[in-house]
Amino acid sequence: FEGMTLLELSRRTGESVAVLQSILINVGETFSSEFDTISVDVAELLAMEIGINVRRQHSTEGSEILPRPPVVTVMGHVDHGKTSLLDALRNTSVAAREAGGITQHVGAFVVGMPDSGTSITFLDTPGHAAFSEMRARGAAVTDIVVLVVAADDGVMPQTLEAIAHARSANVPIVVAINKCDKPGANPEKVKYQLTSEGIELEDIGGNVQAVEVSAAKSTGLDKLEEALLLQAVDMDLKARVDGPAQAYVVEARLDKGRGPLATIIVKAGTLVRGQHVVIGSQWGRLRAIRDMIGKTTDRATPAMPVEIEGLKGLPMAGDDVIVVESEERARMLSEGRKRKFEKDRLLKAEEARIEEAAARM
Ligand code: GDP
Ligand code: MG
Repeated sequence: FEGMTLLELSRRTGESVAVLQSILINVGETFSSEFDTISVDVAELLAMEIGINVRRQHSTEGSEILPRPPVVTVMGHVDHGKTSLLDALRNTSVAAREAGGITQHVGAFVVGMPDSGTSITFLDTPGHAAFSEMRARGAAVTDIVVLVVAADDGVMPQTLEAIAHARSANVPIVVAINKCDKPGANPEKVKYQLTSEGIELEDIGGNVQAVEVSAAKSTGLDKLEEALLLQAVDMDLKARVDGPAQAYVVEARLDKGRGPLATIIVKAGTLVRGQHVVIGSQWGRLRAIRDMIGKTTDRATPAMPVEIEGLKGLPMAGDDVIVVESEERARMLSEGRKRKFEKDRLLKAEEARIEEAAARM
């Protein structure tokens, strides 16, 4: 793009001059007209920002695409056993057993099915807030929702809320009817209630699977895992494996010794140690990548949750991770995004003030 004018660039890329200008303003570039020519650095930045948009729309064009594991979120009413179910599932993972049951909390874990060579990635943060927050930031991380309903309690307000979340995100549900070990368990009643809510269970010819489990007794977990894999096959989940990684933050924390740490899940491509990344408005260089049992690794592939180290600041859940060529560019894009976030924040505050003033009139 070097030496081109904004107008030419707009014609070449199909992006409007206004879009290109707004990117330039965001990174603090000044320009006086669409006939201004573009410097190398700015051209590369624009290419990257536009390239990202293009990649998002045609993420699989021109490279090898392979099946990928599903990423699953557990939702349901309070006390119906979301945390217990995640604990029980985590204990079925080979990695957890190899690590002597001690896995550090990294925000996600993988259950591998050695027989079929497949696996399932579970997000470790149950609940609707995390799901909504990620969605609000544009992160389509979850492929399948496990809806936990206690067999002795049935469908409750937050069950309905979870259904609504899954529906609005267009994410399929697999039902886990939990606490089936309890004397008062009535799975049939749960199914009836769900049917009344418009959930089309397989029993009545629909395509939503329901599995009876007990998180407390660790029963039915293999059936649940099977159901999730079946659902995944149905969805034909695939991802580009080679090329630059696209990933999402699922959790971030500050470690006293190691600094900001983020658990991320790769959506496409391969993340490689040493790469420069921009995450939301933060940036850094991948000093270390660790898997779910804390072992360092050189690369991360689609659906693999890893913890990364080397960021300059703390990102937020749902932030996107992109790989850039150099530290300079990482810093430039990060600063541009920070400026944009600040501008958006000020705009919102102003809008709120105007609304408030209007309400007082
Ligand atoms: P959450 O609020 O959905 O995360 O629910 P928890 O996992 O914290 O479980 C709430 C309570 O139900 C706890 O006292 C668990 O021990 C209990 N519980 C969870 N799963 C089962 C189960 O399968 N059977 C029985 N009997 N109790 C369970
Ligand atoms: Mg819980």
